Amino acid sequence: MFLCDYHIHTPRCGDAEGDYEEYIQEALQKGITEIGFSGHSPQYFLPERERKRESAIPEEELSTYIQEVEKLREKYQGRITVRIGLEVDFVPGKEEAMCSIVGFYSWDYLLLSVHYLDGWPFDHPKYIGRYQEEDINEVYRRYYRTLKMGIETGVFDVVAHFDLPKKFGFLATETIVEVEEVLQSCREHNMVLEINTAGFYKPIGEAYPSFAILERANKLGLQLCLGSDAHRPHEVGRSFDTALSLARSAGFRSLVSFEKRKRTFYPL
Ligand SMILES: [Zn+2]
Ligand SMILES: [Zn+2]
Repeated sequence: MFLCDYHIHTPRCGDAEGDYEEYIQEALQKGITEIGFSGHSPQYFLPERERKRESAIPEEELSTYIQEVEKLREKYQGRITVRIGLEVDFVPGKEEAMCSIVGFYSWDYLLLSVHYLDGWPFDHPKYIGRYQEEDINEVYRRYYRTLKMGIETGVFDVVAHFDLPKKFGFLATETIVEVEEVLQSCREHNMVLEINTAGFYKPIGEAYPSFAILERANKLGLQLCLGSDAHRPHEVGRSFDTALSLARSAGFRSLVSFEKRKRTFYPL
């Protein structure tokens, strides 16, 4: 059976541990047939002196990252398919710099992520205190508006961790209509949704996105892929059994595979 993990970090990201091959070995052990590395994009949106090695691949190491994974793709050919992707931060107003990173290589796929709201890294535990000062519903609205702008660039293949602001358990207290707008935008721009299992291990204790969002996405005809957001080798493919049963209960019947941005669908 086809099984992919498309959200894997690498030692080049600074905040991930272990060797590429340890991630691949873990994937093999867990019956994963396709592994995609998706290092954090260089922090093109920050002035050079503020870029941090611990949360992104430095721009000057991007080609090394690609070469390293290309070598492994050859080495493991016939045993596991290795894909080369990138998790790209979308920051409004910095599209030109973003496009130069994205155009650097013929990636298998690009994950769209929003980790910053007006410079606030809202999913970083170090900056969690800021939630006390914010109107939580407004945080969600700003997040989804930003995500929608990212989708509308037409640059990306997959929306990563769709409902990330729930990470620490701070939930919106009213219906956020922007969720539906973002899902509609995903349909218009042919975006794939990721079930990201890292959420099970955060205070919120559930996958990204929520079951309700998954069900709605399925009704709209969106497609799905899986990602563990592993930052350590043992995290590859974690909670994938639960993710697969969530996907099936939400009505999904296939998973997407990417090769140089081209899609193939496999039964789930
Ligand atoms: Zn992320
Ligand atoms: Zn990630």
